[in-house]
Amino acid sequence: EADRLISAEKRGEDFDTTMRPQSLDDFVGQKAARANLKVFIEAARSRGEALDHVLFVGPPGLGKTTLAQIMARELGVNFRSTSGPVIAKAGDLAALLTNLEERDVLFIDEIHRLNPAVEEILYPAMEDYQLDLIIGEGPAARSVKIDLAKFTLVAATTRLGLLTTPLRDRFGIPVRLDFYTVDELQLIVNRGARILGLPMDDEGAEEIARRSRGTPRIAGRLLRRVRDFATVAGAEIVTRKVADEALKRLDVDALGLDQLDRRYLHMIAENFGGGPVGIETIAAALSEPRDAIEDIIEPYQIQQGFIQRTPRGRVLTARAWKHIGLPMPKAVAD
Ligand code: ADP
Repeated sequence: EADRLISAEKRGEDFDTTMRPQSLDDFVGQKAARANLKVFIEAARSRGEALDHVLFVGPPGLGKTTLAQIMARELGVNFRSTSGPVIAKAGDLAALLTNLEERDVLFIDEIHRLNPAVEEILYPAMEDYQLDLIIGEGPAARSVKIDLAKFTLVAATTRLGLLTTPLRDRFGIPVRLDFYTVDELQLIVNRGARILGLPMDDEGAEEIARRSRGTPRIAGRLLRRVRDFATVAGAEIVTRKVADEALKRLDVDALGLDQLDRRYLHMIAENFGGGPVGIETIAAALSEPRDAIEDIIEPYQIQQGFIQRTPRGRVLTARAWKHIGLPMPKAVAD
């Protein structure tokens, strides 16, 4: 399912660079997070100090990378970027850290996937701006301390629970990002359409927004597909009807659920009587990795009130049964 249209995973085709907001004021939504960041950025700037380390938590595609870039821009410092799985050895991270200048932002995406040996050297770096390295092996081995520039680590993760406690505790500013409202996504779609030079009315934008699973990255992707459809159909302006036809063809339903989302719901309904069913069983039944189910499919299902997570497993709600058009079994309804 790597080709899932609405997957919030990053893909090359995203017009990330053109659609990406450049300043906090340009950034739509996440009001509380934005207001807080603004204060911290201003305070750090006026004191001429490095900003405290920031941890963004939230499902993919909600703007964690974008906010990290904006922070560097507003702080007037360099932005360096990497990701947890890319840093293979402690030496790789050491090389990145020693190249930072005062107050620079180092962004580490998917920080929960850092290997433990790498994570170890991050602790003193975050806390004391120092590297503790062991050089050599056996009896000749010795430890050296290297001073680092006072930098800001901005890290992102899809779920807080995936981080080790010592790592989590070293972030002064944890920021949780939530799914966007339809109104917010509509503003994002309008802005994207303007950038693409695509005429669109309010209802067309609303239709795309409603079906974007609360996620700007998906809004951008659907917008591009709708544009293709409009071009081929010779539509001069994207109306609700044009958007709806395009999205229907893409098999995105009225709430933004795609095939895999619906397969998830149908599987729990039909094979497990609506649950409770454990995550491992669901992963096996869908032949999808557990992480993908927990990071991408379930957060939106929970937000929509389609499933509940109980100690015994996932349970479909009445709303989910209604959405997939199946009668809720009596025993579950009671
Ligand atoms: P994450 O790092 O959380 O996976 P990104 O920051 O890469 O998400 O954002 C994904 C896409 O969505 C990018 O193309 C970005 O431009 C766009 N985007 C994210 N948040 C917003 C927003 N608030 N307004 C407009 N576009 C956004």
